[in-house]
Order: sequence, then structure tokens, then C-alpha cells
Amino acid sequence: VQGVEGARVAVLGLGRSGLTAARALRAGGAEPVCWDDNPAAREAAEADGFLCMPFKTEDHFDGVARLIVSPGIPHLYPAPNPVVALALEAGVPVDNDIGLFFQSFATRDWDSFDTTPRVIAVTGSNGKSTTSALIHHVLAQSGRRCQLAGNIGRGVLDLEPAEDGEVVVLELSSYQTDLARSLTPDVAVFTNLSPDHLDRHAGMGGYFAAKRRLFAEGGPDRAVIGVDEEEGRFLAGQLSQGPADDRVIRVSVARKLTGPGWQVFARKGFLSEYRKGKQVGSIDLRQVTGLPGAHNHQNACAAYAACRTLGLAPKTIEEAFHSFGGLPHRSQTIAEKGGVRFVNDSKATNVDSAAKALAAFRNIRWICGGLEKDGGLDALAEASANVRKAYVIGREAAHFAMQLKVEAEVCGTMDVAVAKAAAEAEPGDVVLLAPAAASFDQYDNFERRGEDFAAQVAKL
Ligand code: ADP
Repeated sequence: VQGVEGARVAVLGLGRSGLTAARALRAGGAEPVCWDDNPAAREAAEADGFLCMPFKTEDHFDGVARLIVSPGIPHLYPAPNPVVALALEAGVPVDNDIGLFFQSFATRDWDSFDTTPRVIAVTGSNGKSTTSALIHHVLAQSGRRCQLAGNIGRGVLDLEPAEDGEVVVLELSSYQTDLARSLTPDVAVFTNLSPDHLDRHAGMGGYFAAKRRLFAEGGPDRAVIGVDEEEGRFLAGQLSQGPADDRVIRVSVARKLTGPGWQVFARKGFLSEYRKGKQVGSIDLRQVTGLPGAHNHQNACAAYAACRTLGLAPKTIEEAFHSFGGLPHRSQTIAEKGGVRFVNDSKATNVDSAAKALAAFRNIRWICGGLEKDGGLDALAEASANVRKAYVIGREAAHFAMQLKVEAEVCGTMDVAVAKAAAEAEPGDVVLLAPAAASFDQYDNFERRGEDFAAQVAKL
């Protein structure tokens, strides 16, 4: 981190990103002072030589230049965090690791591509990881040096210093964009918007506002915007200087986009790129096995557009798409037994992503449930047409099952659900884990949930 020499900087939350921030601050010559309510996290920080202090009174903020808050800590909603509130009262600026990263990484010169590194940042409700990983994959395949970080892979302050001509691809969640004081990517991507994390952002308006910060005045030079929701259309319109402004690339999988600007859309499995009213690129996505389903075609369009802003040729991008293997826990086929396919989409932690997974398959034996999110399950009704039966897990399985519009059996735990679904499945069926809920009632995270699913399937 640059520009922090001699400054006292408070770090709240000592998980992976907090500890990394503390270390990066120390390496930059700052004096970090840390806190975490969890004693074990404090011990780890102290063992690393960091001073810990509870920040209980205004005096504790004497001489503190900035407070760095971990993305996992709710700062304002559903209830204000007392340390953050005290810092604000003491007039201390509140920031996070992403803000520190951009502060240190102030290149901002679009016309000097080969002489400066570039940052591409991806946000949105769903498809962030897939889109970021795909952009990274295409760039790497095309021979560009690049690094992947943020919500996926490494923490941003763990990155190697980027060199000229190198690209840093960042996945950013709303928890990260919300607090960062500096957000200045060269290219920013907005995949889509659907309800998620509503408690942390006090509803949909706050959630959209957090994501929009990535596109604020002085933000990206190029913006790739999914326009299949009202919010995306609004954002694209706001960023455009006029209909032909090609600093904004519109992306859709719902309709053919027309107009004098720059657009990428997928219809019936074909990706098309139009610029100034002319078609300039196309890809047959039906041949791309690592990106199945319309939702992945949206990710493909967004990644394609981001790579095009850097001048990659359509053919180069197409070739790289074919070698993309997909990410674990996202529409991932893990086994095929007796004509039954087992698909792990544990990452479907909200209703919209689960609906997309359900739309990508037929004859589904659907394993779902977990920690319910606000907003209800009504949005699943349409996609439920592909479901033969639901097998519901989670501590609140009965309540979850009651709200479904399909035949549902309360199973409670993964082992029971997998065994039942497999026993009842007929050749041609798909046993799909797409929970439409968070995992924290039964697992540490969605990865553990997906691994448990795979382990139970392996036992069959
Ligand atoms: P994120 O990082 O935004 O959570 P992922 O790429 O990890 O996104 O995908 C999360 C979940 O959403 C997976 O279950 C996946 O199948 C589904 N998904 C992926 N891309 C999209 C999309 N563009 N729209 C809706 N759902 C998607």
C-alpha cells in the first residue's frame, strides 16, 4: 500500500482480508492497530506482531488516520457496527482493502495500454466469479500477463505488483464496493441484478446503490452493462453521453440489441457483437461445453465484451472459450450413474441463481433448502416446471418445503436427500443441488456443502 507511511491505521476484522490488509499496511510503512471480537483471530494477529485494541472509546481513535473494515462485517445495516459508528463520530474516514488497493493503483490512463497495468472489475448479483474467471482465462490464453483477485482467488492486497501491459481482474461483491473510498477500474462490468443480501443493504435500493458505486463519476473508462433488468438499463443510460457512445457496451441474453452504440447479445445460443450498426463478431456458444445454459451465455457475453475493450480479436476469445473448464460448485456435472446425472450447483445461494440452474436442465430431482434469504421463493415457480420432485435440506426444511410449488419431501440433511433422490431417479433424470439458500445453517460455506453433496454421491 502506498501513501500510508507513518500513518496509524485501524483494522477491524482479522479474517483473511483483514490480516492481509494489516500486513500490507505494515509493509507500506503504516502502523496498523487491529481488532476482532473473536479472541482466536486476535491471537493470530498478535502472534504476527500486531497491536490489538478494542476501540471502545473515542480516545482509541486518537491519531488514527483511517479505519479499514472487513467485508464480512455489517457496518450500517441491519444494525450499525459500534466501532464503525465511533470512528465516524471521531471523524475517521472508513475504508476497506479494495479502497486501499485502488489508492495504490492509480494508473488511470486509457491511451497508454502497453505502458501501464489495467484493472477490470466485475460486479453484479450472479455470474461474477464465472465472468471474472472467464476473462482471466481468455487473457491468459491470449498470452497476456494477468492476475485474478478480490472476492475470488487472492485478496487484492496479496497481489504481486502489476507490470506494464498486465491486467488485474477483480471480482467485487456489494460488500466490497459499498465501503471502498477509491474505486477506479479501467473497465467495469455489471452482470445483472436480483435480490440478495437485502438485510445488509436495507433493501434493493441500497443493494443497487452499493454496486453502482463502481460506476461513479471518475470511475471506469469503459463499462460493460447487462441490460436485462431495469437497473442495468438505467445504469447504461446514465453512463452514456449519447446513443452512439461506445464507452458503454450493453449486454443482453433476453433480446437482440439494436442501435448505433456497442452491444453484445446472445440469442438461441449465438453470441453477436454489433458496433455502429454493423456486426463485427460472433460465436456459436452451443459448441462451448464449459458454459452451459442461458445464464452462462450472459457471462460469456460480458467476458467477451470486457476482452474486446482491451482489443482482443473475436477469434482469439472464441478459441479461449473452448478451453474454459468452468468453476467448481457452479452447474458442475460431478457424476453419471445408471443414466442419472448428478450436478453440483451449491453456489446457487439465492433464488435467482437457483432458478437459472433449474432452467438449464430437465427432469430434475432437486436438492434445495438451507438458510432462507429475504424475498421469498416465488421467483422459483416458473423454473419449477422442470422439477420432478424436491428433496429439502436445512434446519428450516419444513418451512422451505411448504413454500415450493412442486412435490417436496423434507429430508433435513444431505445424506438423506442424496440417497432418496438417487433411489427415486430414473435414467435421464438429473439430481441437481441448487439450494436457493445460504449454507450457514449446516455448513461453513457453499464449498463445504458442495463437497458434502459430492461425497454422498460418491457413496451411492
Ligand atoms: P457470483 O460470483 O456472482 O456468485 P458465480 O459465477 O459464482 O456468481 O455463480 C453463482 C451462481 O449463479 C451459480 O449457481 C451459477 O450457476 C449461477 N449463475 C452464474 N451465472 C449467472 C448469471 N449470469 N445469471 C444468473 N445466475 C447465474
